[in-house]
Amino acid sequence: MIATDSTISLVSFYINGGWERPESGASGKVTNPATGALVAEVPYAGEAEIDRAVQAAHDAFLKWREVPVVDRVQVLYRYKAILEKHAGELAAILTRENGKTADDSRAEVRRAIQMVEVACGMPSLMMGDSLNDVAQGIDCKTVRQPIGVCAGITPFNFPAMVPMWMWPFAIACGNTFVLKPSEKVPLTPTYAIQLMHQAGLPPGVLNLVHGAKAAVDALLHHSLVKAVSFVGSTPVAKYIYATAAAQGKRVQALGGAKNHLIVMPDADMSKTVEAIIGSAFGAAGERCLAGSVLVPVGDAAGPLLDLLVARTKTLAVGDGSETGVEMGPLVTADHHKRVAGYVEKGVAEGAVPLVDGRQRPAPVDGYFLGPTIFDHVTQEMTIAREEIFGPVLSVMRVKTLDEAIELVNRSPFGNATSIFTTSGKAAREYSSRCEVGMVGINVGVAAPMAFFPFAGWKQSFFGDLHAHGKDAVAFYTEQKVIMSRWF
Ligand code: NAD
Repeated sequence: MIATDSTISLVSFYINGGWERPESGASGKVTNPATGALVAEVPYAGEAEIDRAVQAAHDAFLKWREVPVVDRVQVLYRYKAILEKHAGELAAILTRENGKTADDSRAEVRRAIQMVEVACGMPSLMMGDSLNDVAQGIDCKTVRQPIGVCAGITPFNFPAMVPMWMWPFAIACGNTFVLKPSEKVPLTPTYAIQLMHQAGLPPGVLNLVHGAKAAVDALLHHSLVKAVSFVGSTPVAKYIYATAAAQGKRVQALGGAKNHLIVMPDADMSKTVEAIIGSAFGAAGERCLAGSVLVPVGDAAGPLLDLLVARTKTLAVGDGSETGVEMGPLVTADHHKRVAGYVEKGVAEGAVPLVDGRQRPAPVDGYFLGPTIFDHVTQEMTIAREEIFGPVLSVMRVKTLDEAIELVNRSPFGNATSIFTTSGKAAREYSSRCEVGMVGINVGVAAPMAFFPFAGWKQSFFGDLHAHGKDAVAFYTEQKVIMSRWF
């Protein structure tokens, strides 16, 4: 069971409605990123555990698909009430293992609950179309049917919300599910499923396994897994898409990002700066929607950078569980090293640090790195091309909006972007010409709500149907057309 206090949790698998912990096999340790203290030990599933979870999900599917959708969603209504009651605990666990601030964790839990709320509407969402007399005496209708066992593989940065992009929609549609969350943050999804257990879900409908590549591979190669939802980095997304699709499975694989924030000279600079701070440094830059390249157009650079640099220097960095902290640590010591390596590389390749996060004093035991802003970044530099996934903002100055659009469209990624302007014309032109999946206009983090679809373009997404919203219903169902004539 997951400890809601500071004791160490022994994380378990949840298979066929029961909790279990293997006695031997591979395992990992989870530390609090703000202190380095051990918070959990997590077992890693191998082929045998994955097979049992998938088999349990398959057996449950044969009954669950027959349960009327109005009854299936009753479990989710109960779950929503339980989640509301325990939202504070869930958020505290999230901060303890991921490091994001208490406010960010609460906001994430709120988003997770919204996924459940939308999935509760499945009786309406799953409706098909019908037309009578498509030919004389013949009626036609479409129905949506569940597809079977679905698997979800999720990243470390949104351990409450991202799993809920998947399984509430999948099970409301009549599927059963096996979730394999990030091994870096297993506590939050495990606690969320502990709460789901209380809601009274039949055994096997939802299963939870932990682990790394071996667990993922076993899911990808299991013949009873019919659909795979993945969210994580681009190289892994590509691998998941290719491997699962080659076996005829349905796949949606959301990948990494390099998001550009365009600032026009006419923008409201002080409001824009606050939005940029939230976008680039919120959640320590560990968001797939984080703005990581700032593109001031024409004369915007002077006033924008003056304000931005001053505000960045006052950003309160510290343990996310403490009041007033605006930016927490990075998730692990390894990730801290990786992000700090990008800062070193930026300096080595000639970018100009306006703020150097390495110089920000921070507690020694946690994985803290202050916010960094590099000016005069060019296309050839590593920091301009690769996803850093940390609090590092690269400034690439351009003269015109056309140049900004060219810059954005040259990027191999196409997850999210924002434009800051008071000109409707500029906003309209940018939002229609940029090759990016999610666009903010004077909005720094353009995160679609649960009832809209969520995904990027290009190397940020592999598949056809995006996450949540109506796309989730299409992804987790198979459509059938029935024509009938009665003699
Ligand atoms: P990751 O790709 O390292 O891991 C994601 C999941 O894949 C984890 O469950 C992990 O166990 C598994 N995994 C890792 N390596 C694997 C391998 N070689 N083979 C099979 N499975 C493997 O990602 P992360 O570091 O946990 O998360 C950060 C990344 O996720 C960033 O790139 C970020 O942009 C991306 N992300 C994207 C979105 C989106 O909506 N596009 C949302 C959140 C995060």
